[in-house]
Amino acid sequence: MPVRILISNDDGINSAGLDALVEVLKTVGEVFVVAPDREQSAASHALSLYRPLRVEEISENIYSVDGTPTDCINVAVNGLLKDKKPDLIISGINKGENVGDDITYSGTVSAAMEGTLLGFPSIAVSLASKNDFHFETASHYSLLIVKHVLRKSLPKDTLLNVNIPNLPKGKIKGVKVTRQGKRVYGEPIVENIDPRGRKYYWIGGNELGFLDIENSDIIAVHNGYVSVTPIKLDLTDYNFLDRLKLELKT
Ligand code: MN
Repeated sequence: MPVRILISNDDGINSAGLDALVEVLKTVGEVFVVAPDREQSAASHALSLYRPLRVEEISENIYSVDGTPTDCINVAVNGLLKDKKPDLIISGINKGENVGDDITYSGTVSAAMEGTLLGFPSIAVSLASKNDFHFETASHYSLLIVKHVLRKSLPKDTLLNVNIPNLPKGKIKGVKVTRQGKRVYGEPIVENIDPRGRKYYWIGGNELGFLDIENSDIIAVHNGYVSVTPIKLDLTDYNFLDRLKLELKT
């Protein structure tokens, strides 16, 4: 039986990052694409519950959905592919890194989260740049990690969040297994007056830097390493849990 891989993203069905991933993963097995029909970056883990979702078959095994990345994984697993479940789900290649706190907003990571929640080994892949993307580097390392996960699988509750520096392949220093870091943002909001004289707020936030957390995803990517972070969907703080128990008793 050939390996079956489901690919989605949050940049939309026309993203070059998606194409790059499809091309390289065709060498591993049968590839299905179910992706949003337009950009859904920062869509987070939103699920459309109050309207129907429409699917368009773009070409063989390639579908677009008028919904979020999470909708796409749901429609794929429970609808389009219900009789041919994927062996692996991968989301990307996102145009832009998803490190530190980004992952709580990220549509790319959320697609992988949905895959994990539905019981499939899932990976999110992002390329750390805003332009001039080295997709050949990102697809090379995506393939490497996909092959690893197909061989070894993942714990039931865990996905891999992969971030790749935007460098030519030869300039990558290696692969690092990392932990989630923390960015520091400035100017979180822009306040201004629109042409009709009404006040508006525009959520911005330019990165001022990042906290110096040892072995963080941010530091690895900045230093030229591919960052692979295992992310658990159980968000419980087990250290604090015991203390809170005691505190609430008193
Ligand atoms: Mn995106």
